[in-house]
Amino acid sequence: RQLNVEPYWLPFTANRHFKADPSPRILVSAKGAYYRTAEGHELFDSLSGLWCCPIGHGHPRIVEALTRQAQTLDYCTAFQMSNPVTLRLAERVADMAPDGLDHVFFANSGSESVDTALKIALGYHRLRGEAGRFRMIGREKGYHGVGFGGMSVGGMVANRKMFATAMIPGVDHLRHTHDYAEMAFSKGQPEWGGHLADDLERLVALHDAATIAAVIVEPVQGSAGVIVPPRGYLQRLREICTKHGILLIFDEVITGFGRMGAPFAAQRFDVIPDMITFAKGITNGIVPMGGVIVRKDIYETFMQGPAGAVELFHGYTYSGHPLAAAVAHATLDVMEEEDLFGRVRELEGVLESAVHDLRSETGLRDIRNIGLTAAIDLEPRSEPGARARAIFERGLREGILLRFTGDTIAMGPPFISTPDEIRRMVEMLRGLIRAER
Ligand code: PMP
Repeated sequence: RQLNVEPYWLPFTANRHFKADPSPRILVSAKGAYYRTAEGHELFDSLSGLWCCPIGHGHPRIVEALTRQAQTLDYCTAFQMSNPVTLRLAERVADMAPDGLDHVFFANSGSESVDTALKIALGYHRLRGEAGRFRMIGREKGYHGVGFGGMSVGGMVANRKMFATAMIPGVDHLRHTHDYAEMAFSKGQPEWGGHLADDLERLVALHDAATIAAVIVEPVQGSAGVIVPPRGYLQRLREICTKHGILLIFDEVITGFGRMGAPFAAQRFDVIPDMITFAKGITNGIVPMGGVIVRKDIYETFMQGPAGAVELFHGYTYSGHPLAAAVAHATLDVMEEEDLFGRVRELEGVLESAVHDLRSETGLRDIRNIGLTAAIDLEPRSEPGARARAIFERGLREGILLRFTGDTIAMGPPFISTPDEIRRMVEMLRGLIRAER
């Protein structure tokens, strides 16, 4: 029986067909920067899993850390108790973060991390006697996961409509910063568009600053297709937030842990937010883990909890799971020992020149890049996304796993890729673009 698996969605419901019909969309093993399919094809992992496997698959250090930790302490509640592996990880993550962000609240995914950050923002204001600060501000095209908080501040309009009755109240969205007329084919950070941050001043004037709790943005919008902040944009958001007592949250689920050639995008762009959410890369995608890095005073205020509270007010059964923490240490060890952030900075130039060299191909509307990420937008056809999908499917036959959403193809290869592999990835994409004109 033919598998009918939409490439957009996880094929959970198709499980029972797996054995009967191996398909090229079934991955059976992975090593380094390559997957192997049920049919025995090797595929270059052009998006590091789902942006989450920076040091590649099957890393022996991770296998060893996982085994050792499973034999030592395989679970530990995060309530009342702790354990040395997770405590050391919190210190290590805080040491990597910009100055002032020195507390870590662990969660288990990007979505949970975002919901946690939004709750910390609301709780912080309330406990300081500013309960009137309830509004949240996100951005068009932003992606912050599928929790109710993340969907509310996210810019995926379809999600907000679908669950309209359950969206958190008082959310506004800044305009996104992508403009084909002004910035198409810009390398790195566009020069145009910094002024769009002034949207925030307009919202402040409209609502009164004393009603706004937080602004949450991805420094680089990943899921929307690598939308790079224009020069000055994040700085301006920071200034406006500081001026009005609004907390600034950077959602670094994709950009955190090296993808920008620095520990966090905050350092890359030289803007310090009040909280940073992370997930994905910290555990190389092997065991789920996420979290929020929080300014000390915000953390301490939040942790006082509501007056008279004796019961739990926030936390997860698996917060700071020792297995995830052990895998995170192994991942960070490899990143440090092999100077993989330095390697990202070198590969950034290779990816930038290779991907912008596609400009002469027909039917491309835009090319963007920053750090070890890039995206191309195809000219839309009558059926949206059809060409990208054809490219994706042909890629599976020709040795590359690509990620497409709509007419956009995004790339974020593992940090362990060689310059030749980066060039080959882009040349494969060129061949696919030509074949699917
Ligand atoms: N925030 C950002 C910026 C993301 O890119 C993602 C996932 N792509 C999420 C949140 C949600 O993460 P998760 O899928 O782990 O819940």
